[in-house]
Amino acid sequence: VLDWYEAQGRPLAFRTTSDPWAILVSEVMAQQTQAARAAEAWSRFMAAYGTPAILAAASPAAVLRSWRGLGYNRRALALQRAAAVIVAEHGGQVPADLAALERLPGIGPYSARAVAALAFGRRVGAVDTNVRRVLGRAFFDEPPAPAPLKALADELVPPRRPGVWTHALMDIGATVCRIRNPRCEACPLRTTCLYAAGARPTAKARRVTHPRGAAKPPSGFRTTSRWLRGRILDRLRDTDDGAWLAFTDPIGDHGIDAVHTALGTMARDGLVELRPGSQAEARLPAG
Ligand code: SF4
Repeated sequence: VLDWYEAQGRPLAFRTTSDPWAILVSEVMAQQTQAARAAEAWSRFMAAYGTPAILAAASPAAVLRSWRGLGYNRRALALQRAAAVIVAEHGGQVPADLAALERLPGIGPYSARAVAALAFGRRVGAVDTNVRRVLGRAFFDEPPAPAPLKALADELVPPRRPGVWTHALMDIGATVCRIRNPRCEACPLRTTCLYAAGARPTAKARRVTHPRGAAKPPSGFRTTSRWLRGRILDRLRDTDDGAWLAFTDPIGDHGIDAVHTALGTMARDGLVELRPGSQAEARLPAG
């Protein structure tokens, strides 16, 4: 697996750093965004917010502007809150302790484990959807329960180069062990994989399940409130600091009532500020 990664791994920009803060930022960005797109945004973001202290001191409006193109914008505000905790409780340094990482806002068990392995060389397995699929297919007769899967993921991490292992499993899941039509012939696990050997009775049926995930929005995406919220935020990103913008027209297929409802929920999430007494005028939060 490690050799396969050296030859076939994706050369993503954020894989060149060993700075724990830069790695933590990359993990938050890659949670729900295609890795190549996250890598592009990561370079810009790190140029602006190279330390937790710089991000913690920034205005939420500026942070949301820097998050353009990544989607799931609440992650930007959670990352800023994580930066504030790192400054207040950890002297401005990303903690190496797994429990402390998991307590950071917006950092779930997967991201905490990925940061622990990638930034601090800890032997912990990071299990996201892709890794769950790889290990589940390779080592289990049936789709595994979370506890045995996690135990196996930990056990498999090699004592040397745990970060490389983490990247390798991610890449096998993303590029080889695809949801539909896995490319077993190109996979370093093929000689021992139960799924490739046909051991799992449901293997064939599972090969034709439909893909899901953030990389390819489902058809009809433009009709979702997530699409609408993204467009509202994009318009606000183009305004000057502190300027109010009136939303008085439909956006796409969404009528004006839906636009105002979206503004209300975005205000509750802290993504926008509504002008007092108005449901139609908004600006990026000043902080
Ligand atoms: S051999 Fe095939 S099914 Fe098994 S882990 Fe590799 S790509 Fe997935």
